[in-house]
Amino acid sequence: MPEDVPVTNAPPCPAPFALQALADRCVQCGLCLPSCPTYALEGLESESPRGRIALARALDDGRLAPTPATETHLDHCLGCRRCEAVCPARVDYGAILTAARAGQRKRRPPSTRQRAAEWLAARPRTLSALLALYRRIWPLLPRAARPLPRPASAVRAQASGIEGPTVAVFTGCVARSYETGLHAAIRRLLASIGQHAVFPDGQTCCGTLHAHAGDHATARALAARNRAAFAEADTVLTLASGCHEAVADAVDGTRDAIVHLAEHADRLRFAPRPERIALHLPCSQRNVVRSDRALHQLLARVPGLEVIVLDAGFGCCGAAGTQMLTDPARAVRFRQPLLDQLAASGATRLLSANIGCRLHLANGTALPVQHPLELLADCLARPPFRP
Ligand code: SF4
Ligand code: SF4
Repeated sequence: MPEDVPVTNAPPCPAPFALQALADRCVQCGLCLPSCPTYALEGLESESPRGRIALARALDDGRLAPTPATETHLDHCLGCRRCEAVCPARVDYGAILTAARAGQRKRRPPSTRQRAAEWLAARPRTLSALLALYRRIWPLLPRAARPLPRPASAVRAQASGIEGPTVAVFTGCVARSYETGLHAAIRRLLASIGQHAVFPDGQTCCGTLHAHAGDHATARALAARNRAAFAEADTVLTLASGCHEAVADAVDGTRDAIVHLAEHADRLRFAPRPERIALHLPCSQRNVVRSDRALHQLLARVPGLEVIVLDAGFGCCGAAGTQMLTDPARAVRFRQPLLDQLAASGATRLLSANIGCRLHLANGTALPVQHPLELLADCLARPPFRP
């Protein structure tokens, strides 16, 4: 299917977001405030979850006229959903944010950088071709002209020769050019538990980036493409925690790859690895997928591995979907405390399970930055086939 052909089998629009009803669940207790990275940075009620919920509600029902300042407070939300994870009233902050951003999009067109990011994410093959060019010219570019780290050289796919159950793997958009090593790793890990990985054609971006920017029509169209691409799959594994929820909503049988492997951990044998590594737990992994415990269980099976969990700073690395591209100076303010803790930790590499966080962090450190499953595949005691 050509990338630019609109998807005609997208499901009909869901009922309009009931922003008022969602916002009314907030009892304004303020218990979420200490968890909010933007509140920690600015100390302003309007930069807190409670403040943003009140703002979104007032803008939605017309009690408040939008101003550049009100739009900026909504723009600044990182979408980390730490507020949602601690809310005693179970406020669905993620739904409130995407509904508020849809309203914003009607009031004001997205920036050129945001539009470019959305356009390219929805066309992964075009994006991959551009990133191949970016990889070639990267050494010639000045530091300021490198919004992303250098894409890795391609890793040739190895046939696993496994006859066991087939598991499909979701590869996403920008991750395709950065994660060929991770794709080889998941093949080896799955082969070690007797499963065969496939990477179906026709899959596309998960659409999270679009939904978070209020473009629900494109997010639904991308979800429909993924539903079609994975129609034959019983199990679909996601590798990036930031993509997981959108893929799981679109495709039955979706599982987080870390959780899936942890359930088969007794079949994984790891060689000793005397190394201190730093672990970054992305907001989407902690607050949405909640695979951090499964990841700790897997890493604990590697003899000699010392894991330092980065927990410094504001609680979010600042990548925040497209913020690292649309507002890089602000994104760096959130990242710096993590990089300072990384530098002081004595760790020799950094692990993070979300592609956006990994790109943002890798652009600020010379240490290797990997998905945790890449390290685990390297530590296999009896690799099922050569990497
Ligand atoms: S979002 Fe939840 S925790 Fe935050 S103020 Fe509202 S009810 Fe309280
Ligand atoms: S999603 Fe994150 S940045 Fe946004 S209000 Fe909630 S805690 Fe704050």
